[in-house]
Amino acid sequence: MNRDVVIIGGGPAGVACAIWLKKLGVDCLLLEASGRLGGLQTRSPYENLWIPGVQGKTGQAVAASLEAHARALDIDMRMNSPALSVDGLRVATAEGVFDARFIVIATGSRPRAAGFKAAQVVAIGPGEPMEALDVSGRRVAILGGGDNAFDQARFVRDRGGQVTVFSRTPPRAQAGLRALVSDVPVVVGPYEADQAAMTVNDRPFDAFGVMFGFEAVIPAGLSSKLENGYVAVDREGRTSLPGVYACGEVTDFWHPCVTTATAHGIQVAKQISLRLIGS
Ligand SMILES: Cc1cc2nc3c(=O)[nH]c(=O)nc-3n(C[C@H](O)[C@H](O)[C@H](O)COP(=O)(O)OP(=O)(O)OC[C@H]3O[C@@H](n4cnc5c(N)ncnc54)[C@H](O)[C@@H]3O)c2cc1C
Repeated sequence: MNRDVVIIGGGPAGVACAIWLKKLGVDCLLLEASGRLGGLQTRSPYENLWIPGVQGKTGQAVAASLEAHARALDIDMRMNSPALSVDGLRVATAEGVFDARFIVIATGSRPRAAGFKAAQVVAIGPGEPMEALDVSGRRVAILGGGDNAFDQARFVRDRGGQVTVFSRTPPRAQAGLRALVSDVPVVVGPYEADQAAMTVNDRPFDAFGVMFGFEAVIPAGLSSKLENGYVAVDREGRTSLPGVYACGEVTDFWHPCVTTATAHGIQVAKQISLRLIGS
């Protein structure tokens, strides 16, 4: 169970890192907690209009392409194989312990739940969980005031829902997104949302969409320095721990999107290959 590189997380950052390491001739193992590669893109049924040169693909299609690319290169990957803990350069999984010369943390981020629990009538974060809500003719409260809140308000309205946005502070969402839902009521100020009663400020709703942004997914045991809750890295992708690198949304290094996550994974792959084989 000795490997040159163990990558934890098969989202865009981890897959890009694995693809480049493989093509650079470096031994690596990719561990993915879920049953598919692509990370947050697997929860997006929306067209991804933001990857330069890629058109006409949903996020889920982008995820499928990433997985197909990794498979075509015969990358050694383990699905449904979460890293249970990281201790120095040792990674524990249900299959056993891997000792690596380098570890790459590419565990990404997840929507903040802030005490809410995902349920048939409560979606945490944008994408698939929201699309799974039955909203037609129903009263839907969107909690949050960022881009995702207003994007999702539009999708709910377009699916026939009676949507209200609740934002504790003046909405931060881009003006363009807000303009697209100018007919949707926005309640600004403190509010009490009660999942058990399905009320917001004592007003009954049939469904909640919780859009409170994202937080880094930090593997258990990882003791590297954090900044604002994200893994701190230098420009080469090195964390504060020897031999441990990090890339993508777990780091908050660049604006979060597929292109920057993959670029970050590539940067880390290149730096590790320089150290291992000098090319
Ligand atoms: C609904 C939605 C729509 C989006 N639309 C766009 C868009 O149109 N354009 C765009 O550029 N970006 C979009 N994004 C953002 C984009 O998906 C992210 O920026 C990108 O996926 C981040 O990649 P990542 O690899 O850093 O992290 P993630 O995608 O979060 O991937 C991290 C991976 O690590 C795995 N993991 C976590 N912990 C462990 C562990 N302990 N062991 C093993 N594996 C683990 C997770 O299962 C996951 O697969 C969207 C995001 C969402 C939610």
